[in-house]
Amino acid sequence: MIAKLIAPALRPIFDRVVAGQRITDADAMQLYGSNDLNILGAIANVLRERKNGNVATYIHNQYINYANHCILSCQFCAFGAKKREAHAFEMTIGEIVAKARAGLKLGITEIHMVGGLHPSLKGEWYLELVSRLRALDENFFVKAFTAVEIRHLAFRIFKKTIRETLEMLREAGLCAITGGGAEIFDQEIRDQICRGKETADEWWDVHRTWHEMGMRSTATMLYGHIETTAQRVGHLRRLRTWQDETGGFTGFIPFAFEAAGARPGVLQNIRHVTAFEELKNLAIARIYLDNFDHITAYWVSLGLPLAQQALNYGVDDLHGTIMEEKIFHMAGATTPQQQSCAALEKAIREAGREPMQRDTWYRRIAPTWHKPAPELAVA
Ligand code: SF4
Repeated sequence: MIAKLIAPALRPIFDRVVAGQRITDADAMQLYGSNDLNILGAIANVLRERKNGNVATYIHNQYINYANHCILSCQFCAFGAKKREAHAFEMTIGEIVAKARAGLKLGITEIHMVGGLHPSLKGEWYLELVSRLRALDENFFVKAFTAVEIRHLAFRIFKKTIRETLEMLREAGLCAITGGGAEIFDQEIRDQICRGKETADEWWDVHRTWHEMGMRSTATMLYGHIETTAQRVGHLRRLRTWQDETGGFTGFIPFAFEAAGARPGVLQNIRHVTAFEELKNLAIARIYLDNFDHITAYWVSLGLPLAQQALNYGVDDLHGTIMEEKIFHMAGATTPQQQSCAALEKAIREAGREPMQRDTWYRRIAPTWHKPAPELAVA
């Protein structure tokens, strides 16, 4: 039925996907060149349902940004700050643990924690932070740090190798690392939007090492700024190749660039990508990344109504309750700060999918949020 609706130019791609074959970079370029969004969604849906059936997951998590002091000044970043700047902040370990404890009483299963590249916090501070969070509950996942934070900890703070640093953090209780900082992997783009940050290979070195330790992580893409379509496809190609090597990525999460918070320079006055482009990008990611089990819609960036639509354009996961998002909101996002589990389940049901709660590693779990949550609102 769907096959009959597909334009002849896209038919070979559809046939390859149905046959379980991998699409090429040229195919991906052709898909980006198509404006037949519903057909792209239908092709993506073949893989989405093959991998995840009709289920769509969400995670009951809480974001905490421990500090935003940062020695770098990425062009797109409104979050990072020098100590003297008015928006600089730094939490104490006690404050972070108190927030996590309050979240746990609401049923969260994960703390998701990133910060800037802090110039002066000591290694012991990070180890104590992770171990005190992990000690709150043995089933609690501490997911923290981007690849560039791990490199900062390894080379500037601990003065150890990546492997030694990751082992110390795992020993302290780190359960997963985040996929942030991938941006667009092409070095020409990185030199313009995040000079001084790690290269693509350095980003991968952190994730590969973590995967080789038997651990899992996510992967991201920050798109919709100065990158070309070919550079987007190149980003996906690297991820697919690396996933072939280790199989350690759980999910892929693309974010559209928010121009309002960009620093003066090449990223000024860039129009936010349209909803059409966001759905197209998610669908193509689903089709291209045939070795990723999950494609996540980041509702903070998309808005919940569009994230809900994305469940029929290749997406099988809505990320998450979050509770207090800073990075996108400081960059100008106007979406809410948090979602309730009930709102995420409702959105999933309305899209015709079956909601299920998941843990950090995308394993389906029984709901943890039907607990009385009396006076324990998160500050
Ligand atoms: S994106 Fe990360 S590394 Fe870059 S300035 Fe912001 S906080 Fe610092």
